[in-house]
Amino acid sequence: MHDAGMQRWHTIIEPFRIHSVEPMRSTTVEERAARLAEAGFNLFNLHADDVLIDLLTDSGTGAMSRDQWAAIQRGDESYAGSPSWYRFLAAVQTLFPFEHVIPTHQGRAAEKILFSVIGGPGKVVPNNTHFDTTRANVEFTGAEAVDLVIAEGRQPDLVHPFKGNMDVEALDALITDRGAANVPVVFVTITNNSGGGQPVSLANLRAVRAVCDRHGVPLFLDGCRFAENAWFIREREDGQQGRPVPDIVREMAGLADGMTMSAKKDGLANIGGWLAMNDGVIAAQCRNLLILTEGFPTYGGLAGRDLEAIAQGLTEVVDEHYLQYRIRSTAYLADALDAAGVPVVKPAGGHAVYLDARALLPHIAPLHYPGQALAAALYREGGIRGCEIGTVMFGRHPDGTETPAAMDLVRLAIPRRTYTQSHIDYVIEVVTFVASRAGELRGMRIVDEPPALRHFTARFEPRD
Ligand SMILES: *Cc1c(COP(=O)(O)O)cnc(C)c1O
Repeated sequence: MHDAGMQRWHTIIEPFRIHSVEPMRSTTVEERAARLAEAGFNLFNLHADDVLIDLLTDSGTGAMSRDQWAAIQRGDESYAGSPSWYRFLAAVQTLFPFEHVIPTHQGRAAEKILFSVIGGPGKVVPNNTHFDTTRANVEFTGAEAVDLVIAEGRQPDLVHPFKGNMDVEALDALITDRGAANVPVVFVTITNNSGGGQPVSLANLRAVRAVCDRHGVPLFLDGCRFAENAWFIREREDGQQGRPVPDIVREMAGLADGMTMSAKKDGLANIGGWLAMNDGVIAAQCRNLLILTEGFPTYGGLAGRDLEAIAQGLTEVVDEHYLQYRIRSTAYLADALDAAGVPVVKPAGGHAVYLDARALLPHIAPLHYPGQALAAALYREGGIRGCEIGTVMFGRHPDGTETPAAMDLVRLAIPRRTYTQSHIDYVIEVVTFVASRAGELRGMRIVDEPPALRHFTARFEPRD
């Protein structure tokens, strides 16, 4: 960007070359149909060797850099006070200057610990949109999880620069209605994963902060994709153009009192996470729980080498060339599908392209899971594994009732630095083919499901 050479050419190239390769295995349609039936039409049950292009998640599936692998060699496995811990702590606090940083093995462990301390019956936790593990961890304590994303964020084909923004008036009304004493924290998820990977503006974060201040309620970030969110702010928000990404990240952090994080996303690592906050009393209670399930406070659930990989990843993820390539490569897939007439959430999110299964499959009722039907078809036809984000994921409530989710999407998540443009061109071809025969797809019925987080393990069968 600052380099004249980057400005002269239209093509945005992958800002890396391949250093170590992994073979991919092709299968036939017949083989995939058999694997699908064995898996109960749940793509989480597949053997990954039977998947050609794996877009199930961008979580922990990215490629690490040469420098991250080198950092792994430096990992120090001292039980307490490892130098790897101090490098991790410094890297986190450079971007997020919270006083207390508590390492965890992944994001949901941070959520579990935090909500065990501050959740409980009668409490309500607002969020722009809770991610599924966040909602489950809130609800597991008996608290209520409420999603308050702006109305634009619930309309898949509506273009808005910050569709992840919180509805600030609704937030204010909720806190007034329930009483600040019953709202232990307000969460903002950046970017809004379950709402299409859409960003939140600085202006919105400031407005949320003002509401929190007025009611005396702390504000936490679910920061899993903080760097992608910062890039969107730099690209789209007035006055932010050309600003160094780490500065934008620090401003977001400065508006909050704490955060949960999965380093499997914008940590550019394969495992890890943290919980951070300024409140020393709550942090002490969280550390006590950490020791019960995760480990000593200087490693959490992580090896010293994992802490090193994350520390290095945090320096790479805020690099502008990386972020320009990252966000552009997601938009490349979304734009091509849009041009081919496939309904997608617009504009493209940061980490994923979301197919609008409800719009593509109007003949399949939401309670017959159009997203699950579409995800199964993409695997069957092309060996592509996506993930239903819709009624399977969100339709079942703690009281056992079932209602359609706000949207029925199929998420094609893009692992970081993993697939090339020709892999993505193949995905475009397969999705376009499946969409051209959408009328042939049938809905699904659940034949077996667990009480919570059913999308991971439920089994399905096609309806006739
Ligand atoms: C992935 C994710 C989490 C949970 O993190 P894990 O590392 O998978 O446990 C929480 N919130 C959001 C927004 C996420 O994307």
